[in-house]
Amino acid sequence: MPSKSDLLRLIPKVDDLINNEKITEAAQSMCRQVVLESIREQVDETRKKILLMEESETAELDVGRLVDEIIARALGKNEMSLKRVINATGVILHTNLGRAPLNAGVKDAVWEIAENYSTLEYSIGTGSRGSRYDHVQGLIAKLAGAEAAFAVNNNAAAVLLVLSTLAKGCKVAVSRGELVEIGGSFRVPEIMEQSGARLVEVGSTNKTRISDYRKAMEEGDVGALLKVHTSNYKIVGFTEEVELAELVKLGEEYGIPVIHDLGSGALIDLGKYGISGEPTVQESMLSGADVVCFSGDKLLGGPQAGIIAGKKSLIDKMKKNPLTRAFRIDKLSLAALEATLRLYLDPDSAVSSIPVLSMMTMPIETIEARSATLCSLLAGKLQNCDVFVEDGHSQVGGGAMPLQNLPSKIVNIKPAKLTVQELETRLRGSKPPVIARIHKDHVCLDVRTMRDEDFPLVASAFEEALGKIWE
Ligand SMILES: *Cc1c(COP(=O)(O)O)cnc(C)c1O
Repeated sequence: MPSKSDLLRLIPKVDDLINNEKITEAAQSMCRQVVLESIREQVDETRKKILLMEESETAELDVGRLVDEIIARALGKNEMSLKRVINATGVILHTNLGRAPLNAGVKDAVWEIAENYSTLEYSIGTGSRGSRYDHVQGLIAKLAGAEAAFAVNNNAAAVLLVLSTLAKGCKVAVSRGELVEIGGSFRVPEIMEQSGARLVEVGSTNKTRISDYRKAMEEGDVGALLKVHTSNYKIVGFTEEVELAELVKLGEEYGIPVIHDLGSGALIDLGKYGISGEPTVQESMLSGADVVCFSGDKLLGGPQAGIIAGKKSLIDKMKKNPLTRAFRIDKLSLAALEATLRLYLDPDSAVSSIPVLSMMTMPIETIEARSATLCSLLAGKLQNCDVFVEDGHSQVGGGAMPLQNLPSKIVNIKPAKLTVQELETRLRGSKPPVIARIHKDHVCLDVRTMRDEDFPLVASAFEEALGKIWE
C-alpha cells in the first residue's frame, strides 16, 4: 500500500503534464494559459486530497484520470457563460431564457453589421452624419400606422424617456388598476418617480371611470395621461376601465398627450388563430394615442428593444432628450430589429417566419405529431423509463396573456432508478442544457418551444443523465 508521501511523489510535474500527449492534443483549440492554470489547479487539488487522507486509507494515483480531469477543467473554463439552452418548458417568452428567439435569417443581418463597418450613423446620400434611428423609423411608422417612431434599448427605457420628455415636473394621471409591476424590476410608480413626473392615482383598483380622470384634470398641472396595458394580470369580476379612445377625447379637450404603454406590442392580431386578449399597436394608434411604447422582444418576436411610435412633434422632442443618448439601441440589436420588422411587411408569412408567432399558432395536430416523434425517440432509447404523452398547456409568458393557456401535448418521462429532481438537475448539466419542468414524479417536455433539431440532443441528454446511474 503506497504511503501518502509515495502518492505525492507519483503526481506528475506540471512540465510533464504540459507535454502529455492527450493534454497537448486537447490544448490545440484552447488558450495555453487556461490549460496551464487547469493543470496547476488540478495538481493542487489532488495534492490536498492526498494530504487529507487517513494514513490507513488505501489509494492509488490514477494519472490517466488526472489527465482527464485537467482536460475537463480546461474545457469548462473555455466554455461561454452565456450559452444556448433547449427550452422544454413550453413558456414561449421565457424571460430568464432570453425571451424571443430570432428567425434564423436575422443572423446574417446581424453578423454583416457586427463584422463590418456600417451606415449606423452615416448617410450614404450626403456623405455626412446620419441618424441610427433612421434605419427603423419608416418601417415602424408604416407597420404601426404612426406618423413617426424610434427605438431605444428596452421598453422600460422607452416609458421613462416618454414620461421624462412629456411630463417632467408635472402630474401624470394613471388608473389605480394599472400601477403594475412587471418582471420584478419594472414598477410603474417607480419609473414615474425616476422620470421626474408626479404620479396621480385615479379611480380604484377594480373600477376607474372617465370622471376620475376628469377630476384629476380639473385639479390642474397634469402633463400627460398614461394608460398601461396590465400585461401580466387581469382584473376580473366587478370591474370598469376607461377605453383608450375615451381617454384620448379627454386629452384632446385639455390639450395634453395620451401615452399608451402596451408592453407586449403585438403587430398582428392573432384572433383568427384563437389567441385573443392582446391589443395590437395599430389598434392603439387608431384609437388616437399620441404615443405608444412596447417591447421588441415580447410578442413582436425581435431583439430586446423599446419601441416608441406616435406624433412626430412628440417623437422629435424625445430625440432631443439627453436620456436618449443613455438609452440608445446598439447596432447589433438595431440590425436584428430591422431584419425582424422587414418580415412583418408580409403579415401572412410573418406568422410562420417569426419563431414566437409560429410557436403561438402551432396547430395542435402538429404538436401532437411532434410529441409522438419525441416520445418514440425517447422510449426507444430509455428502456428503464416510463415515457408517455399527456394533454397539457403551454404559456405565452413574458407577462403577456396571463389567462391564455395554449393546449399542448406534453411528453412525460418517469425515471425508474433516479429521483425526478436528480434527473432534472442532470438535464440542466447537459450540453446544451435542457430546461424542463417537473410535474408530480415525471419530467415534462413541451415540444412547442423546441425545434425538431433539438430532439436528438434531448435524447442524448436523457441517455447521459440516466446512464450515470450504472457507473
Ligand atoms: C414588459 C413591460 C414593460 C417593460 O418592458 P421591457 O422591454 O422588459 O423593458 C413595460 N411595460 C409593460 C406594460 C410591460 O408589459
